[in-house]
Amino acid sequence: MKSTIELAERVKHLPPYLFDKIDKLKKQARGKGVDLIDLSIGDPDIPTPAHIVEALRAAALKPEHHRYPSYEGMLGYREAVASWYSRRFGVRLDPGTEVLSLIGSKEGIGHLPLAYVNPGDVVLCPSPGYPVYAIGTMFAGGEAYLMPLLEENGYFPDFSVIPDDVLKRTKLMFLNYPNNPTSAVCNREQFMEAIELAHRHNFIICHDAAYTEMYYYDRKRPMSFLELDGAKDVAVELHSLSKTYNMTGWRIGFAAGNADIIFGLGKIKTNLDSGVFQAVQEAGIAALNTGDTVLAPLRDTYRARRDTLYDGLRSIGIDALKPEATFYLWAKVPTGFNSEGFAVHLLENAGISATPGNGFGAAGEGYIRFALTVGVERMKEAVQRMRKVI
Ligand SMILES: *Cc1c(COP(=O)(O)O)cnc(C)c1O
Repeated sequence: MKSTIELAERVKHLPPYLFDKIDKLKKQARGKGVDLIDLSIGDPDIPTPAHIVEALRAAALKPEHHRYPSYEGMLGYREAVASWYSRRFGVRLDPGTEVLSLIGSKEGIGHLPLAYVNPGDVVLCPSPGYPVYAIGTMFAGGEAYLMPLLEENGYFPDFSVIPDDVLKRTKLMFLNYPNNPTSAVCNREQFMEAIELAHRHNFIICHDAAYTEMYYYDRKRPMSFLELDGAKDVAVELHSLSKTYNMTGWRIGFAAGNADIIFGLGKIKTNLDSGVFQAVQEAGIAALNTGDTVLAPLRDTYRARRDTLYDGLRSIGIDALKPEATFYLWAKVPTGFNSEGFAVHLLENAGISATPGNGFGAAGEGYIRFALTVGVERMKEAVQRMRKVI
């Protein structure tokens, strides 16, 4: 029976789910027995490395882990984070005050506005972008101001076009590099611009760093936002173990950076959740200590897929950004199509699902996102199928 109880306004006002139509068509296609090549989901197809699974198995047997964890995370986990930061980025963090465990970085993104945003406050969110930035803002009663990421600006926001009265009301800005969905990386000067703006207008920056380890060139490893002078005065950085270590199902990540902001986020968490299962944190420690002998072959796998898809798309006249990082490829839809039209065309005529760019925000119109989540042979097949329908 249908409930007669009305949904809360914040749920009623959720933006329409733009992938609805694609999801329905995907289901229909599968129902008809179509051999679907699914390039639409940002979820690694490769299993979690064995040493991490083993660490969970051993930790799960310890009764001390069966009790409530501490909301801020085990000290051992926070120390492993600090030591990883120091090795990878040369950034020093105090594990006691500058690191917080998260139940996946999505949780931190959703909760941070609750700690800092009042009704009427503005949160600057990239468009196209990970949808939780704007939705977390809305749940906190704030107003999302969308910053378009345009190709001509290297998919970095143009801060000079944000009106002064918006900046005056701004409490928080989300940034995400390497970027989902565009795969763009950004440089030191661009990050510096953001820090200067935050200092000038007294707001927080939350840098979503989910993809810093999914890179293709050892000489061009993506940087941490916290490497920059002054960053720790205004920023926290959120990391996810999900994509780097194929751990999307495990729900573990962390926030690092400014101690006051970490404290504010922690306040929300103590009142809403009880932290991450400690055995999963033990596995997280094993993950953060993973060496390049495990990670380099993973990068090679994604690089081979990227090359196959990128070269294939070029050969059939589809323009795309060649990713230096992330496992996404952001391509222009051919003339005569819009994002959704092209996604539907690929589904119905080639049995390929990909994500229409406008689903990540209006500024993504005209693009489509392919996830590199199938093997090289399947990717070749995808290119062959596209060749026939373009
Ligand atoms: C996948 C993803 C996340 C969420 O990661 P979890 O740690 O699994 O919650 C956050 N931000 C971006 C940009 C992502 O693509």
